[in-house]
Amino acid sequence: MYRNSVVTNTQNTMNNKNISALWQYMDGKSWRDWRWQMANRIRSVEYLNRLFPDVDEDPEDLDKAVRNFRMSITPFFAALLAEEKPGGVLWKQAIPSAEELREHPELSCDPLSEERDSPIPNLVHRYKDRVLLLTTDRCALYCRHCNRRRRAKNHERDTSAANIAQCIEYIAAHPEIREVILSGGDPLTLTDRKLDDLLTAIKEISSVEIIRICTRMPVVLPYRITRDLCDILEKHHPLFVNIHVNHPAEMTDEMYEACGRLSKCGVPLGSQTVLLKGINDEPEVLQALLRKLLRFRIKPYSLYHGDPVSGTAHFRTTIRKGRLLMRYIAANTSGMALPHYAADAPDGAGKILLLGDHIGELEGDKVTLINSHGMRVQYPDGEDDQ
Ligand code: SF4
Repeated sequence: MYRNSVVTNTQNTMNNKNISALWQYMDGKSWRDWRWQMANRIRSVEYLNRLFPDVDEDPEDLDKAVRNFRMSITPFFAALLAEEKPGGVLWKQAIPSAEELREHPELSCDPLSEERDSPIPNLVHRYKDRVLLLTTDRCALYCRHCNRRRRAKNHERDTSAANIAQCIEYIAAHPEIREVILSGGDPLTLTDRKLDDLLTAIKEISSVEIIRICTRMPVVLPYRITRDLCDILEKHHPLFVNIHVNHPAEMTDEMYEACGRLSKCGVPLGSQTVLLKGINDEPEVLQALLRKLLRFRIKPYSLYHGDPVSGTAHFRTTIRKGRLLMRYIAANTSGMALPHYAADAPDGAGKILLLGDHIGELEGDKVTLINSHGMRVQYPDGEDDQ
């Protein structure tokens, strides 16, 4: 309906030798099995080069980049990459680049001080009424702009049962916590059983009113949204799912179907988009994305300024540019499509809406941001296009 399905396209382009190598690796029956997709992700530079000989990076740089932040690409997403020109908007998000090795004095591994705000490992309690529970450090695809790249450096593992039990105990002991946000890594990489057990344990805490799941699975592995998963989610309402989507080209028929299954079981869908230089920082692209989200029954929720995380300088643009984009969207698009534009400020100052009163002085490449409690923080801005 919105683009050809990945499977159809892949079959039609069997004369393309990259796709052909990918196809050899598939067996038709398993393609839609999310576990098969997880098990057959592209994880080595050698395999990446075999499938995509057009990747124009020095192999040593690629190796270094992957050692800093692991790589993994689902066969589903690889099929999308194979349709795209090298260096396109999907490539940039999935394929490591030497730019990740660029040192930048203002960027760091944990600029949001999540570790500091964790009373116990994997539970971030920064805002009084909600917590962030980091359920795993595994993702189906590691986005090269990820702000939690520090977690997925050397291993992929779920948060241990003992650690989860501590988190549950903490939430139960703090009745001011009304919302639990599951993140990671990607919580939908957990098995159905683990997810169901976790949701059940959270719902048993009477002070918790809602659960929010943050995921990129409908984009990078839509087959994860199975009927069984939907049956589980349906048991734990009110439960919201926020989907990380950055470009309209990521939004496939398969994603449309996955979102339809979630909507059908009563899950309200929202989006999280990261403002990324060269990917979605043009007014028409951002507008097309926001409109397409609504057609997929996803309410645009947030547009985040790229966090000042080491290895992501090449994706960061300026707040000035972000505000111009928002002005264009507000003037030319339905209010339904309008996300809030925010930055996550350093020193635990939290999310700050990038609107009038929250923006102070601009000095060189630093902007002063002012949070809702009046706290002023110096924010390292991104770079304008050359
Ligand atoms: S899905 Fe989220 S946590 Fe995983 S790599 Fe992408 S941005 Fe990071």
